[in-house]
Amino acid sequence: MKRRQFIQSTAGAGVTFAAGLLPFAARAASLRVVVVGGGMAGAAVAKFIRLWSKGEISVSLIEKDTSYVSNILSNEVVTGKRPSIDSLAYSYTALTTKYGVQRIQGTVTGIDDINKTVTYETPAGSNSVLTYDRLVLAPGLDFDLMPGMTSASQYDTTVPHAWKAGVQTTLLRNQLLAMPDWQNVVITVPLAPYRCPPGPYERACVIADWLRTRKPNSKVVMLDANPEIQAQKTNF
Ligand SMILES: Cc1cc2nc3c(=O)[nH]c(=O)nc-3n(C[C@H](O)[C@H](O)[C@H](O)COP(=O)(O)OP(=O)(O)OC[C@H]3O[C@@H](n4cnc5c(N)ncnc54)[C@H](O)[C@@H]3O)c2cc1C
Repeated sequence: MKRRQFIQSTAGAGVTFAAGLLPFAARAASLRVVVVGGGMAGAAVAKFIRLWSKGEISVSLIEKDTSYVSNILSNEVVTGKRPSIDSLAYSYTALTTKYGVQRIQGTVTGIDDINKTVTYETPAGSNSVLTYDRLVLAPGLDFDLMPGMTSASQYDTTVPHAWKAGVQTTLLRNQLLAMPDWQNVVITVPLAPYRCPPGPYERACVIADWLRTRKPNSKVVMLDANPEIQAQKTNF
């Protein structure tokens, strides 16, 4: 049974839960879901729990940033087709005004799954605690240091991976513009599984295409940990 059908059928029929022994509709009014991370996954979960519960389940979304910058189409910023990364930033206004999600800006620092609480740090630097009935963790991913790197801050200054759209996308763009017409672009591909299998190959193609006319003596070198292309093999 799909989750959607499950929620719809239980809400409609007033199914009782062994643990709570209250009809779902009655419990739902006081149920609180906390979602950590307002990216594609977290925002979608928050929206559809509100929609499918017909507003009966309260949803709090804790996200550290003020807006979400979409990875999708960020390659257009890398190649200059899109003038700025700002056009890929999305606010959380629709989630709050249209769907009634409670948006909290903060960085989650701890979870107590016995007492069902989440601790987060507010932008002002203080700690707050939120209780939940159900918790959804959707914080995306973080990056390990590459061999030879000493600090993650190097990703923001010298070797942008730009797999999280934002400042690094712009940095990569500026590095491409500044490089002389003989230097090469090296792209590494980690061993699968990794997020967005076509990502590195797509980026290699768009940068190579850009270099072809802008810096014809430069090229893209791919260091791929995988034995073969991981997605859309024929296409790439
Ligand atoms: C260049 C590129 C192109 C892509 N193109 C496509 C595409 O065309 N189509 C497609 O479907 N996918 C595409 N993807 C993949 C897609 O971007 C990811 O699969 C998607 O972003 C994953 O969503 P997520 O919600 O899990 O994580 P994210 O989108 O990374 O969101 C995680 C969120 O959690 C927040 N967060 C993290 N830690 C905390 C914390 N402790 N407290 C509070 N908040 C926190 C972050 O600020 C962030 O907003 C692409 C990816 C890249 C890199």
